[in-house]
Amino acid sequence: MLIGVPKEIKNNEYRVGLTPAGARELLSLGHTVLVQRQAGAATGFDDSEYVAAGAQMASTAAQVYEQAELVIKVKEPQPVECRMLRPGQTLFAYLHLAPDPEQCRLLVESGCMAIAYETVTDAQGGLPLLAPMSEVAGRMAIQAGAACLEKAHGGRGVLLGGVPGVAPGRVLVLGGGVVGLNAARMAAGLGADVTLLDTSLARLKDIDMVFGGRIKTLMSTVQNIEDGLREADLVIGAVLVPGATAPKLVRRAQLKLMKPGTVLVDVAIDQGGCFETSRPTTHQQPTFEVDGIVHYCVANMPGAVSRTATMALTHATLPFIRKLAALGAGPALAADPHLLAGLNVCAGQVTHAAVAHELGYDY
Ligand code: NAD
Repeated sequence: MLIGVPKEIKNNEYRVGLTPAGARELLSLGHTVLVQRQAGAATGFDDSEYVAAGAQMASTAAQVYEQAELVIKVKEPQPVECRMLRPGQTLFAYLHLAPDPEQCRLLVESGCMAIAYETVTDAQGGLPLLAPMSEVAGRMAIQAGAACLEKAHGGRGVLLGGVPGVAPGRVLVLGGGVVGLNAARMAAGLGADVTLLDTSLARLKDIDMVFGGRIKTLMSTVQNIEDGLREADLVIGAVLVPGATAPKLVRRAQLKLMKPGTVLVDVAIDQGGCFETSRPTTHQQPTFEVDGIVHYCVANMPGAVSRTATMALTHATLPFIRKLAALGAGPALAADPHLLAGLNVCAGQVTHAAVAHELGYDY
């Protein structure tokens, strides 16, 4: 199969869909890999590494989209990219369609098969292609939040770890999935006082067992969230209802419960955000303030640590790319219900229940 890897064009997105090592794996199986020039350059993967692996190089994105049967990307296609997709072609990338009706419409119009990394499932009920970026974003959320807490960045001037004789900062983590767990682990590692909320009692039990009380767990209720907001210095939004817009757990009126200079890091912003006052920001301008509360809402956090993130992503996607390439997209989807769960748009139809429901398409 001819597998195409275009260069990412989203603002400040330095990752690439496939590492040279990943390309080499696919080439060793007899496939052809066509990589757009400079696709990996920003993250330290030179064209020469792809060439050494045996890949062919294309000068433009248009050449990649024209020739590839399977297009491997990182972020959702921008409108100009959607218009290059065509019937019979498969797109494999993060899509996050629920909060993005325009992209959904363009993908439907393109007639392509669009498989979203974030809704591919595994036998344990997890999301194996969201997990590596969630690990990265969860760990980064604490680094970013700690920096925002500094006075010069608008924060309360609190050091998360405290010092001997001074209490540590308080971190409230909403959602105990992959992002939440990694954020909680980093915050605890820095010496912060960490409380994590989730609606799943099973999840809370697991976390309690692993951390032996070092991280406090609470059921996610309005009361517990409001109590937590009053105490917190840093709040991490890490909830997910797969395929759907994130539930709004903190309304604007509740911002006044918090101390001025408290920091909200809304990692769930790519699904619309779990704070009512969130709106997507970029690495260039990561924060804004509402009612004295600092909001950090970067939609592509792992893009800032693109090398780590690209390698982690290729490790997770490669088994699925191998299947798609070996069998062809249709048979591969038919043979694997977990990959099929990732099919969001197919030949002009929305094929993911939550996305269809959210955006008003027939399903
Ligand atoms: P996950 O499925 O592993 O975890 C989500 C958790 O949220 C689950 O444990 C679930 O029980 C919990 N939850 C659902 N509703 C809740 C509620 N009302 N209160 C408390 N908890 C609730 O998902 P994840 O991999 O941790 O991802 C979380 C979010 O982060 C997703 O929206 C994901 O797309 C996003 N994300 C963003 C970036 C970024 O760069 N901004 C990067 C990676 C992931």
